[in-house]
Amino acid sequence: MTKLIKRSWAEPFKIKMVEPLKMTFRIEREKALKEAGYNTFLLRSEDVYIDLLTDSGTNAMSDYQWAGLMLGDEAYAGSKNFYYLWDNVKKYYGMPYFVPTHQGRAAEHMISKILIKPGEYVAGNMYFTTTRVHQELAGATFVDVIIDEAHDSQNLHPFKGNIDIQKLKDLFKKVGTKKIAYVYMAGPVNMAGGQPFSITNLKEVSALCKKNNIQLWFDATRATENAYFIKMREKGYEKKTIAQILKEICSYFDGLWVSAKKDLMVNIGGILATRNKHVFEEARNMVVIYEGLHTYGGLAGRDMEAMARGMEEMVCFDNIKARIGQVEYCGKQLEKYDIPMVRPFGGHAIFLDAKAFLPHLKQDVFPAQTLASEIYLDSGVRSMERGIVSAGRNAETGKHNYPNLELVRLTFPRRVYTQAHIDVTVESIAEVYEHRKKVKGLVMVYEPKYLRFFQARFKKI
Ligand SMILES: *Cc1c(COP(=O)(O)O)cnc(C)c1O
Repeated sequence: MTKLIKRSWAEPFKIKMVEPLKMTFRIEREKALKEAGYNTFLLRSEDVYIDLLTDSGTNAMSDYQWAGLMLGDEAYAGSKNFYYLWDNVKKYYGMPYFVPTHQGRAAEHMISKILIKPGEYVAGNMYFTTTRVHQELAGATFVDVIIDEAHDSQNLHPFKGNIDIQKLKDLFKKVGTKKIAYVYMAGPVNMAGGQPFSITNLKEVSALCKKNNIQLWFDATRATENAYFIKMREKGYEKKTIAQILKEICSYFDGLWVSAKKDLMVNIGGILATRNKHVFEEARNMVVIYEGLHTYGGLAGRDMEAMARGMEEMVCFDNIKARIGQVEYCGKQLEKYDIPMVRPFGGHAIFLDAKAFLPHLKQDVFPAQTLASEIYLDSGVRSMERGIVSAGRNAETGKHNYPNLELVRLTFPRRVYTQAHIDVTVESIAEVYEHRKKVKGLVMVYEPKYLRFFQARFKKI
């Protein structure tokens, strides 16, 4: 009998250029954090050692993408990079019509303006911060119709991003289908801890929307990660390529928007794409007001070239496997110290369960915000809050929304950090966990009106 030997895998790339990191002392970090009002968004990146704030625009581009930057056609109109990008939008997302935008929320802004009339409703699988704010500014009420399992950090459902069909039907009945501006799905669902939806669920949602003549839109920002989970978890998809699964997912939607700063592994860019000619014409007209001509949408030609090339790389199975593998590695190491986390591990991030980590803190003293501060103080690792601060206030009552999930997100930029960086991060979190009983909460001393988590300031209790 041959002995079974464990085979490790590694990234399908090597490092060609390095960027030095600054290492700081605790006393320096204390000063920096105080100046930043205990909000990791307000820290200077210079004061950060390992930056797990977000995977948005923080990815490492490949040599193929960097080479593309030199081929930027910076014509005001009709740049050749735009047409190349449009071809790739058709090829990978299967949408015939396309408008570039400077980033994802610009596409969200336009689609909300185009599809929503004041007083209407938008249903979706949990909210996303920028998405919901644009829907609300356009006059809609957002209704979360994700399955209940998504609100439970310990539930092992493989597709916690699924929509609860009954909740959707109930909403249609309650407000009437004419009052639904559109239904949207994101995948994996960021706020639920990076949890995917299944194609089976998508098909049901799509059928229900079609039957009621309601448009179904897709936040495809992390769609290839959702495709990866479908390949690994859903029957019948084991042998399909990521590109095939992505194309199939998109085929059920009327249109989509993308923050290119994620899947496409660039630093800036966004996409609005659709098969609906009317929506396309509105968007193509609107983009010239807010972003720029419809053949550049706030982007340089070189940015569009890097996006088009990133799209070719984003469907590479080994790339996604290494990315999600790195997230899993972090989760498994944290498990050794019994650190409370959201399960299953997400596609782009590990989410620490701050309620379980700091059970002595009430939600009103911002446990997740506090935990992110403590981790930074310990090691210079920057994470972010995804809890009561991010959830904002109820638009009608003005009271805090109290989400079930009170999380700290450790987000991994694609192709940036090594396994040793993850080890250091894990050790730091274990250290904070060891001393968790001594941790006190925060009070909010400044609160901006919109998306308060970005700029709110706090003081130690
Ligand atoms: C980042 C993100 C957005 C917003 O995109 P930006 O490029 O940051 O404006 C929208 N939806 C999801 C799911 C995201 O992750």
